[in-house]
Amino acid sequence: MRTYTREIDVESPTDVLVIGSGPSGLAAAVAAAREGMTVRLVEQYGYLGGNLTGALVGPCMTSFSLDGKTQLIRGIFDEFVRTMESLGGAVHPSHTVGGSPFAGFMTYGHEAVTPFDPEVAKRVALEMALDAGVELMLHSMMVDSVVENGRVAGAVVAHKGGMSFLPATVTVDASGDGDVAARARAEFRYGRESDGTVQPMTLFFRVRDVDDEAVAAYQAEHPEERFPFESLVEKAHRDGTYSLPRRGVQLFKTLEPGVWRVNTTRVTGVDGTDVHDLTRAEVEARRQVLDLLDFFRAELPGMGSSRLLDTAATIGVRETRRIVGTYEITLDDLVQARAFEDVVTVAGYPVDIHSPTSKDGPFDDDIPTTANVYEIPYGALVPAEVDGLLVAGRCISGTHEALAAIRVMPPAFALGQAAGTAAAQAARGGIAPRDVDVRALQERLLEAGAYLGERLARDRSML
Ligand SMILES: Cc1cc2nc3c(=O)[nH]c(=O)nc-3n(C[C@H](O)[C@H](O)[C@H](O)COP(=O)(O)OP(=O)(O)OC[C@H]3O[C@@H](n4cnc5c(N)ncnc54)[C@H](O)[C@@H]3O)c2cc1C
Repeated sequence: MRTYTREIDVESPTDVLVIGSGPSGLAAAVAAAREGMTVRLVEQYGYLGGNLTGALVGPCMTSFSLDGKTQLIRGIFDEFVRTMESLGGAVHPSHTVGGSPFAGFMTYGHEAVTPFDPEVAKRVALEMALDAGVELMLHSMMVDSVVENGRVAGAVVAHKGGMSFLPATVTVDASGDGDVAARARAEFRYGRESDGTVQPMTLFFRVRDVDDEAVAAYQAEHPEERFPFESLVEKAHRDGTYSLPRRGVQLFKTLEPGVWRVNTTRVTGVDGTDVHDLTRAEVEARRQVLDLLDFFRAELPGMGSSRLLDTAATIGVRETRRIVGTYEITLDDLVQARAFEDVVTVAGYPVDIHSPTSKDGPFDDDIPTTANVYEIPYGALVPAEVDGLLVAGRCISGTHEALAAIRVMPPAFALGQAAGTAAAQAARGGIAPRDVDVRALQERLLEAGAYLGERLARDRSML
C-alpha cells in the first residue's frame, strides 16, 4: 500500500465502491445495492447524474435499435425514465418518434430519444440511490487508488475535511475519465489512432423565450437542412460573423415551451484530464456562449427575443482515457454486429464523432453505418491487468471510433447496471471480476429487466 506522509481517515469497508455518479455510476451503485451489497457512491459534485444533470446534456440519445423498432436499453434506464415521466419530467423514448413535437430538430434524424428535465433527473437519481440503500459520499473527489498485490483495494478521496481511504472488495470506475484505473496504473489509450487527438468539449446552455412555432416553421420550410439553421450559419461563416467550426446550431427542444438546450460551443485541442486545459476550455466556452446569444438574437428566426436561462455547472467532456480491457471493442464489431458470448449490453446508436480537428464537424462522413443492433461484451469492462476493478460508461475499452457510438447516456446506464451486478457477484463470491460466471451475470441482468438481444435469447432457449 502507498504510504501517506499525513494521516488520513479510514472509512468502514464496503463490498462495492463506485466512483462517479453519472448514468453508469448511478446504475452500477443501484444494481449492486439491489443485489444486497453494501455500496458507497462517491461524487465530486453535490448531486447525482454526471452529464445527465451537471453538464445539462440531453436528450438521452436513442435507447432503441437503429431502425427505431426495438427498445434495447431497458432495466434501470427504463425505470429511471418512467419514474421521471410519472413526475412530468420526461417523455419516454417510445413517444418521440416521427410526428411527435420532439421529432425534427429534436432528433435530426434519430428516433426514440428521451427529452427530460435535469432537475427531475437529479431528484429521481437521488431517490433511486437512497431507496436501494446506497451510501452517498458527495463533495468528494477521488484522488488516488490503493493497489495491493495487483488488486485495487479501494480509493482515496479528498474533501473539505481532508482525505479518506475508502476500502472496498470491488471498485467500479464510473468517473468517465478512468481516474481510478489510471491511478492504479492500468493501461489506457487516449485519442484517435492517427494523431492522438480527442473529441472537442462543449458547454451546454439553455435559452428561454424562444418562439417555438417560428423555429418549427423555419424547419418545415428547410427540410434539406441536416443541421438546424445550416444555411444561415453557412451565410454567417461567409460573412465572417460566425466563427465556430460548426455547420449549424445544435438545438434541442425541451419539455418547457420556449426553452431549448444548445449543444453548440466547441473547444478543440483540450485534455479533460488536465486541470489547466479544463480551465482554459471553461473560459473559452463561456465566451462562446455570449457570442452565440448575440448571433441567435440577430439572425435566427424565432430567436429574436431569446435570453440565457442557464449554463451548465461544468463543460462537457466527450472523450479522454479508454481503459484497455480484456477485450477492446472496435468499429468493425459494431458494423458487423459481432456476436459475443459475454454480451452484457446491446445498443443501436451510430458513431457520433465530433471531429477533434476538422472545421467541418460535427460528423465525419467516412464512417460506415453501424448495425441495427450491436453487442457490447463484458470483457470491455474488465481492465486487462489490474484486479478488483471494473470500468463502466465512457471509459470502457474500445477504439476512438467505437466509443463514439457507445458513449451516449442510455448505453452508459446499461453498462453501469452490468458492472454493478458483476461487482456484486465478484464481491459475494470472493473472486476477481474477471472470473465472474458470465452466464450467471447475464441471467441476473435479464431477471432485473435488462435486454441482451434476440441472439442471446435464442441461444438460451436452445440450452
Ligand atoms: C458535450 C456533450 C454532449 C453530449 N450529448 C449527448 C446527448 O445529447 N445524448 C446522450 O445520450 N449523450 C450525450 N453525450 C454523452 C454522455 O453525456 C456521456 O458519454 C455519458 O454521460 C457518460 O456517462 P458516464 O457515467 O460514463 O460519465 P459522466 O456522465 O461523465 O459521469 C461521471 C461522473 O463522475 C464524476 N467524477 C469524475 N471524476 C471523479 C472523481 N475523480 N472523483 C469523484 N467524482 C468524479 C463526475 O462528476 C460525474 O458525475 C454528450 C457528452 C458531451 C460531453
